[in-house]
Amino acid sequence: MTIRAPFIAGNWKMNLTISEARDLASAVVKASLDLPEAALVLAPAFTALGEVRKIVDGSPVGLAAQDLFWEEEGAFTGQISAPMLLDAGCRYVIIGHSERRQLFGETDAAVNKKLRAALKAGLAPVVCLGETLEERERNETMARITLQIEEGFRGVDASGFGRTVVAYEPVWAIGTGRTATPDQAEEVHAAIREKLSLQYGKSAGRCAIILYGGSVKPANSYALFEKDDIDGFLVGGASLDAASFIQIAVEAIKSFKVKK
Ligand code: PEP
Repeated sequence: MTIRAPFIAGNWKMNLTISEARDLASAVVKASLDLPEAALVLAPAFTALGEVRKIVDGSPVGLAAQDLFWEEEGAFTGQISAPMLLDAGCRYVIIGHSERRQLFGETDAAVNKKLRAALKAGLAPVVCLGETLEERERNETMARITLQIEEGFRGVDASGFGRTVVAYEPVWAIGTGRTATPDQAEEVHAAIREKLSLQYGKSAGRCAIILYGGSVKPANSYALFEKDDIDGFLVGGASLDAASFIQIAVEAIKSFKVKK
């Protein structure tokens, strides 16, 4: 078993003005100095990337975008490319979030193009996987996730995979207040790791960072992080409050120290 230090990313979604984003990022950066064990990442809206970049630069906090388009440049009104994100100071980019899949019709094929574009540009992708409630109730969770991995990671070699973070986010747990229990989450995380090990080799599977996302909060972070295959969190709602986001990291670090 490989124990990985907590990786905690906050997805701010379509929230916060630039000045609100500045305040939140400043509070996270300040607190991050006391949390060297955790890798913290913030994903503001595109409009706030520039200002948040100024705040996280030179700190341990990483900057992520919430999406990208796969072409590098051209007549694609409203889209933002991987080289543009890199230029804006992003190290990470979230790809295939369930809201993009559900509300904007993003397919596994589109996720694959975005993933390859991000890797080509040198970004570290955070690829989201997860089943709907109906799929879970039909016992199709792993079938859905296997397909998302097979289609989404098509053509991605081991070196690209080595720069990719995976986030398991059951759709029924996102923004609903309904968290997967630690056992439910671990069952899927272990299966994802197994699938990735088969695809990329045992060592790559062992080293893969697999985040859990879905109503993570300070009260459930310790117990979730206790599980062998949960390496951190992708946090939505609770990341909009500096104290909650930081407390999630604090609880995960406590759990990590015991796990180690
Ligand atoms: C998310 O959007 O990735 C997420 C997990 O949201 P929430 O924490 O609000 O459920």
